[in-house]
Amino acid sequence: MDIRTETQELLERLGVSKSQISGGDLSVRTPVTGQEIAAIPSMSAAETSSAIEEAHEAFRSWRSVPAPKRGELVRLLGEELRAAKADLGRLVSIEVGKIPSEGLGEVQEMIDICDFAVGLSRQLYGLTIATERPGHRMMETWHPLGVVGVISAFNFPVAVWSWNAALALVCGNAVVWKPSEKTPLTALACAAIFARAAERAGGVPAGLLKVLMGDRALGEVLVDHPKVPLVSATGSTRMGREVAPRLAKRFARAILELGGNNGGIVCPSADLDMALRAIAFGAMGTAGQRCTTLRRLFVHESVYDALLPRLRRAYETVTVGSPLETNALVGPLIDRAAFDGMRKALDRAASEGGKVTGGERVETKHADAYYVRPALVEMPRQAGPVLEETFAPILYVMKYSDFDEVIAEHNAVGAGLSSSIFTRDLSESERFLSAEGSDCGIANVNIGTSGAEIGGAFGGEKETGGGRESGSDAWKAYMRRATNTINYSKALPLAQGVSFDID
Ligand code: NAD
Repeated sequence: MDIRTETQELLERLGVSKSQISGGDLSVRTPVTGQEIAAIPSMSAAETSSAIEEAHEAFRSWRSVPAPKRGELVRLLGEELRAAKADLGRLVSIEVGKIPSEGLGEVQEMIDICDFAVGLSRQLYGLTIATERPGHRMMETWHPLGVVGVISAFNFPVAVWSWNAALALVCGNAVVWKPSEKTPLTALACAAIFARAAERAGGVPAGLLKVLMGDRALGEVLVDHPKVPLVSATGSTRMGREVAPRLAKRFARAILELGGNNGGIVCPSADLDMALRAIAFGAMGTAGQRCTTLRRLFVHESVYDALLPRLRRAYETVTVGSPLETNALVGPLIDRAAFDGMRKALDRAASEGGKVTGGERVETKHADAYYVRPALVEMPRQAGPVLEETFAPILYVMKYSDFDEVIAEHNAVGAGLSSSIFTRDLSESERFLSAEGSDCGIANVNIGTSGAEIGGAFGGEKETGGGRESGSDAWKAYMRRATNTINYSKALPLAQGVSFDID
């Protein structure tokens, strides 16, 4: 079946009407073939502002719904996602070019975070704290925050929204979502799935979830709007540099989930079979288009010659092709700009002395689709493009001899998202995880840099933005904390022994 027709049928089954995806100005192309599959009407700035106002009204009633009842909505969202998993996963593959298991895996991640958030809805707890005053009690309460703005990137078009939305909703907030302009179809599908859950839940205020269709200008409206106390923005570090000061200017909160330039270290004692598989998935999986993709690999000189030929072979033989028509492990790049960026980085790497394997365009019958062979680049040192994130499947490999030096090199880039070490030496792995080790938000031992589970807090340091979302206690960022002191005595002692007797 023609991909355009298939997309329309999928969307119809998911609950998106034809009028929502045709006749508009926002052209949606599938990277699988490069052809246009929809044309969506985009919203104006004024429509965006009214959507935010509507969400704010919804928040005013939602905040008073008991948290476990809010959890019921998210439980039903999880049920609807289970029912829609096959169709939504396929739509992710069409819109982003992910291979089927990764498209479905992304939806599974949404289901997992819903389960997590349902449990969380009964665990939004504060502390009771010892007070120095007799007959007093001190405690913390956590309150809903307001409208949470979610800006998401193309490469996780649905999971990132759900990480934020599931938590924000159980925390008593409304959500206004600005998806990537490259992936509006999956966002429309999520809105339809959410609407079904809301209808089943009953009593959900209209406007609790609003989705903005359009380009980054709508994101700017969201960022500047006084009724949005928190924006969770996922995307490039460039985007973060624009968004962060605007939010700071009006003292709004930010959860920034920005670019990564993730490193791995292969030590002398590493299990090379295990390392090879982890490196291959981390660096070539999702066609190198994950924020946690492995981009820099440091290999100890004693195992370099054992590992490199095997890695090179993996690069030469990995299958590249359409995720819809073949069983290839590597799908397309999102668009031509991504391909141009990759070629430019490879040229720069070569001029810095890099030895490149792969990186060529794979010709298909689709002239407007950009399939590439993943590139393995042996670098004499960490320099030039190695220091930056290029959002494409390029793995730079460097040899090291000294453990302290390699930790310093590993940390000597702007981004600080994910990292991993392959070793059987306890002292190396513990040092990597210690205060003097990896400076990233995610540090792994004997697994790759990508493929995080939702139970842990997700995010990174430095130019990755410092935000945390998903599991652990990341929910606290979606609520406001009040410290309450209650006097049940008949006196009024002041703290720190201060006296202020007015008569
Ligand atoms: P991008 O920065 O081009 O766009 C991301 C989103 O930001 C889009 O919705 C876009 O419309 C919006 N946007 C851009 N400029 C804006 C502005 N000035 N104001 C408001 N909104 C604005 O990123 P992309 O190409 O879609 O995604 C790839 C990037 O995202 C990579 O750098 C990748 O590492 C990063 N990423 C990070 C994480 C993470 O959790 N750290 C996850 C996924 C992707």
